[in-house]
Amino acid sequence: ADAGKYSGMMDDYGCDYETVNRLNEEVLHPILHELVKTSFFRYFKVKLWCDCPFWPDDGMCHLRDCSVCECPDNEFPELFKEPSKARLADNMACQEGKPQAAVNRTLDNPWTHDDETDNAEMTYANLQLNPERYTGYSGPSARRIWDAIYKEIFSKYPSKESCSEQKVLYKLISGLHSSISVHIASDYLIDEVLQLWDQNLDLLHYRVMRHPERVRNLYFTGWSPNWSPCCHHFKAADYLEQFEYNTGNSQEELKTTQSLVRELVFNPKIRAACPLPIDEAQLWKGEEGPELMHQIQKQFRSISAMMDCVGCEKCRLWGKLQVLGLGTALDILFSDNVTSNLIQPLQLERNEIIALINLLNRLSESVKFVHEMGPRAEKLVKGK
Ligand code: FAD
Repeated sequence: ADAGKYSGMMDDYGCDYETVNRLNEEVLHPILHELVKTSFFRYFKVKLWCDCPFWPDDGMCHLRDCSVCECPDNEFPELFKEPSKARLADNMACQEGKPQAAVNRTLDNPWTHDDETDNAEMTYANLQLNPERYTGYSGPSARRIWDAIYKEIFSKYPSKESCSEQKVLYKLISGLHSSISVHIASDYLIDEVLQLWDQNLDLLHYRVMRHPERVRNLYFTGWSPNWSPCCHHFKAADYLEQFEYNTGNSQEELKTTQSLVRELVFNPKIRAACPLPIDEAQLWKGEEGPELMHQIQKQFRSISAMMDCVGCEKCRLWGKLQVLGLGTALDILFSDNVTSNLIQPLQLERNEIIALINLLNRLSESVKFVHEMGPRAEKLVKGK
């Protein structure tokens, strides 16, 4: 990419590319990189084997790099076997007769399709041992999922005049799609026989860099103050700081996790870069605000259900995690939105927080790779 293309102000909201790149590399990425290695954040609970509700043949990928190595039962933290506290309180308590049970919840929980309380079908994956990277999954199965996702978004908004709230979902998903392509390019199987992994800068150029909109959407998903998990998770800073991060491992590790979370959510440099308080004046405050939120949530759930059709275990694992992460970010954003006439107390699951932070880490890595390698990829392709 030529330097001018991704410099200056990012469209939509007041962040500029230079600040984002600098803060990402100096502050955000180093914290997240450490945080995702901790025992709290490296295990993700997921329903990996489910029937695809949309297509009869599942187009399953049988390549070695498609499969997920599950955690042996004794590997993941003992405390994770118990339901997380928020859900326990929610499920176990009888709602009948309680005033809050009568609240008309415009937005339902959860945002995604899987029922995480269904322990029998859930498994734990060690994310550090199953990195998101090239798997070889492609062709009609992969294509039809992306096509169905974009169709789900656009079928609801046929007019080109769709409002900014409606475009947001497209940008978020397109940004996530860019991020997945960036990870395929950054960790690619160059030689199957020798099992040689390296960067594939041609792929980075052709799938992402030569489409300015895809790059812009990646930055939007990662950093835009109204939408990005990066910025609006600060709305939940206190909540995230006080969450129970104990996994039963050493007290030392617990302290490290807590201090990294604190560094992330209260970091003055990142805070200063996001023009908070979040300007929601233009978004979600109109007459149609609650209806639009409801619609986005419905579409989000359909997209989440499509993850069951991803025919490659590892892609499904990361697809589910990242869709849950985005859903969690939206949940946080909407959690105290007064336009819907209800103030929903924020109540997040352990797995949602794990998904949010790992999504953030993935986006942060993608932004770093695009910034560092994008120009080189373009030079390389032009020189051929
Ligand atoms: P695709 O990436 O399949 O894109 C399909 C079409 O979508 C393009 O032709 C273009 O019209 C449009 N498009 C592409 N990018 C964007 C964008 N950013 N914004 C808007 N529109 C866009 N493969 C792996 O190797 N590893 C993985 O971890 C992995 N995870 C996946 C997770 C999910 C949920 C899905 C559905 C697929 C995943 N895949 C993964 C497959 C991968 O995303 C591609 O589908 C595959 O590599 C084939 O790429 P392609 O060039 O045909 O284009």
